[in-house]
Amino acid sequence: MSIKFHNTLTRKLDEFVPLEEKTVKIYSCGPTVYDYAHIGNFRSYVFTDLLRRFLKYKGFKVIQVMNITDVDDKTIKRSQEQKVSLKEYTDRFTNAFFEDLKTLGIERADYYPRATEHINEMIDLIKRLDSAGYTYLSDGSVYFKISQFKEYGRLSRVDLANIKQGVRVDLDEYTKDDVKDFVLWKGKKEGEPFWDTPYGPGRPGWHIECSAMSMKYLGETFDIHTGGEDLIFPHHENEIAQSVAATGKPFVKYWLHCSHLIVEGEKMSKSKGNFFTLRDLINRGASSKAIRYLLLSTHYRKQLNFTKESLNAAHAAIDKLQNFYQVLLDHKPSNNSDEPFQKALTELLGFFDANLEDDLNISGCLGYLFDLMSETNRFMDSDILTQNNKNSLIQALHRIDSILNILKEPEKELPEEIKVLIGQREKARKDKDFKLADEIRQKLKEKSVLIEDTKEGIRWKILK
Ligand code: AMP
Ligand code: ZN
Repeated sequence: MSIKFHNTLTRKLDEFVPLEEKTVKIYSCGPTVYDYAHIGNFRSYVFTDLLRRFLKYKGFKVIQVMNITDVDDKTIKRSQEQKVSLKEYTDRFTNAFFEDLKTLGIERADYYPRATEHINEMIDLIKRLDSAGYTYLSDGSVYFKISQFKEYGRLSRVDLANIKQGVRVDLDEYTKDDVKDFVLWKGKKEGEPFWDTPYGPGRPGWHIECSAMSMKYLGETFDIHTGGEDLIFPHHENEIAQSVAATGKPFVKYWLHCSHLIVEGEKMSKSKGNFFTLRDLINRGASSKAIRYLLLSTHYRKQLNFTKESLNAAHAAIDKLQNFYQVLLDHKPSNNSDEPFQKALTELLGFFDANLEDDLNISGCLGYLFDLMSETNRFMDSDILTQNNKNSLIQALHRIDSILNILKEPEKELPEEIKVLIGQREKARKDKDFKLADEIRQKLKEKSVLIEDTKEGIRWKILK
């Protein structure tokens, strides 16, 4: 079966054929680093992680770029309020973003270009647009003349009937009611950071950043561009206009957009008290794997309603999966089975592949995974799981988990005090002083560390 993705450009499932046979080039719109990213943002990033991991699973080499927007109205305003330089301010939240990616087990992209480090590339692109007749200067800013670009509106299908010649918009974010000439380069405003350029002092518009940086790292035409659905208009429409107008070549073959996350049925907002960063949830005791599972398990084109119940359900699902995995590792295989387990396993991997190939249908995959767990439990309970079957299943789970990344908790370093206690208990057991060993086990439990003695040695678990 071939891979199919829903392409916003065609509004249908298109067969995925990369430009180069074995390599896929992806550009993913990244964070504006003015604050901690919220869980809605992370829905988009977990979706791109799923896409990236799936393509690697299928044997492609992936080259992925994600921009860091470190200059815009919000970053400038916040850094001024806090009386620190723009760089100091945005570095803080860029680092926090990378920490959050790690918390959620999101694989790192290959490049994270920062807007402020690519001003030359943006100016070069504006020059190309300028010489091709797509721009005009007004009040020290440079604008893109959308009436000049005949394909404008193809991606978002906005109504172009009401475009007024020469009506401009200076904001980076605007709605479909505002189809206007957009700003490429913003003339300097008092007190704001600026760069000196042939178009005068100023700073870049948001849209030009993504065109310049994607083409620098991935070439003038590349395979996949991702982002949340809010970016279709105007951001991605404008990216296409800038890139195609400058190069005369197609810009991106497949546009993949993920639907939004809402909380308890409503759009997230600070005023409603339903706005969460990843850190808010972790501080309230949510496990990072459960959050990842929750963000991952709804199909990316469906709206995701994040609720207290769905988070609890995600915790339960993760516990079930992780416990199953542990029980399987510890299970003593049987010698006397002739049941067709291998067939069930091959089927699972087939279903898993087929569902992901079908526009990343992750919920279908998870369904099969839970079915296989029940099936395996039945084999283990009846003592008919052979060593061969156990090995194949473990291998299959590892393969599946190269995409899901939920099976194992990240290793936590034990505090020194705990390590000492564990050492003392080991010694007591060796000396056959079981009373002391039990006392130490109890002490560890009071410190939320659960010790288990297994055939393979001792195992510890930090209780939540
Ligand atoms: P921003 O930092 O606002 O530019 O957004 C970064 C990414 O998060 C973009 O791809 C947005 O489309 C996406 N995004 C923003 N809000 C949500 C949401 N509630 N659900 C899913 N994705 C979102
Ligand atoms: Zn972008």
